[in-house]
Amino acid sequence: MKILIIGGGASGMMAALSAAENPENRITLLERQNRVGRKLLATGNGRCNLTNADIALSRYPGGGSFASNALRRFSKDDTLAFFASLGLYTVTDDTGRCYPLSDQANSVVDVLRFSLEQAGVAIVTSCDVIEAKKTKNGFTVTAADGQTFTADRLIVTAGGCAGKGLGGTKSGYRLLEQFGHHVTALHPSLVQIKTDPAPKSLKGVRADAKITVKGAGESAGEVQFTDFGISGPAAFDVSRTVSLSESDATLLLDFMRDYSEETLLARLQDRAARFPRLPAEQLLIGMLNTRLGQVLLKHAEIPREAPLSDLTEQQLKTVAHTLKYYPMTAVGVLGMDHAQVTAGGVYTDEFRADTLESRIVPGLFAAGEVLDVDGDCGGFNLQWAWSSGYVSGKLGAFE
Ligand SMILES: Cc1cc2nc3c(=O)[nH]c(=O)nc-3n(C[C@H](O)[C@H](O)[C@H](O)COP(=O)(O)OP(=O)(O)OC[C@H]3O[C@@H](n4cnc5c(N)ncnc54)[C@H](O)[C@@H]3O)c2cc1C
Repeated sequence: MKILIIGGGASGMMAALSAAENPENRITLLERQNRVGRKLLATGNGRCNLTNADIALSRYPGGGSFASNALRRFSKDDTLAFFASLGLYTVTDDTGRCYPLSDQANSVVDVLRFSLEQAGVAIVTSCDVIEAKKTKNGFTVTAADGQTFTADRLIVTAGGCAGKGLGGTKSGYRLLEQFGHHVTALHPSLVQIKTDPAPKSLKGVRADAKITVKGAGESAGEVQFTDFGISGPAAFDVSRTVSLSESDATLLLDFMRDYSEETLLARLQDRAARFPRLPAEQLLIGMLNTRLGQVLLKHAEIPREAPLSDLTEQQLKTVAHTLKYYPMTAVGVLGMDHAQVTAGGVYTDEFRADTLESRIVPGLFAAGEVLDVDGDCGGFNLQWAWSSGYVSGKLGAFE
């Protein structure tokens, strides 16, 4: 069977290798950029967080129930075994994130490229597909430079529109629309959050925190302060909620998630008793980053110069509370260009969850971010790309 795959990213390369397990298949992979796997190279800050030890469906705020079938058919263990079979060694850090042992995303792209070549997959780069049509006997695809390709089966793995500089584009949505598919609203996710006021004095400070979006979920991990708001894994995980929210959202940051407010109050009282002459601005030294401590004390309206012995019980209580519930107002997120993933995509109910074949056009498949599935930060999006890519490459012939 002749198979065309549009998009040589994570899911497209996986789909090609999956299809190549059937020796009857002749596969051509079309990629608009001048090389395959360009976005993959940038993943995980150049380290490629390729999956996670705990692929729970709750980590897919977009499309988790649809994704569950493919995530089961080609699981995290299958992914690690698959990459091991290509010669890629991996390590899992203590938060469950899996990386190549080389610590280099290009190792992942390289082993995929070698395998595509070995499997005889024809790769056409600098091939920007602009039209795809169903014909009597299969599919015809046309590229911007006029080249045409025909196939019996077509797999669209053109990704989402996040990370434009790395190849993010709406092209995949437009191609699937040509077949009568529909696209949800599209929002940036896993992206920096803008706050008002911006924490300019904290620019560059990193802290461990739990972030709660009032009434709409929470995340925990590293937060990085920027001159416009917050970034880092914990901020990324709540960015989807902020991005989809129609109004400003209140974030509550807990910088002492291992300690109760009572324990913190006792510690503050102890410090004040032991060091009565210390100025109040030193109260949080040793607990938090110094600049962050100053900002929190200011928020708690503690006079900087006052000796600790002058602070009242109520003032210490306010500081303990501020350490656990520091409020920031999220006014939005940076745009698609900065986002790691698109929340939204082609409606999943227009595809079969078990095979990823279109319910509108038989013989047409889709996988990866072009579909309305998105996960948290931590390897969940690439796992979806591998799982869905693998399943789509089976072309409905699973089991
Ligand atoms: C900076 C950054 C860091 C990230 N880090 C991680 C991480 O560490 N872990 C994680 O799990 N996820 C991460 N992600 C998300 C992850 O990279 C994506 O979810 C994943 O790559 C999606 O795979 P895909 O195959 O659907 O799309 P892509 O990997 O984007 O591939 C789609 C491909 O299709 C090509 N294409 C598009 N339109 C056409 C067309 N018309 N004709 C031909 N080719 C076309 C594109 O050029 C692209 O190469 C990160 C994303 C970014 C932007």
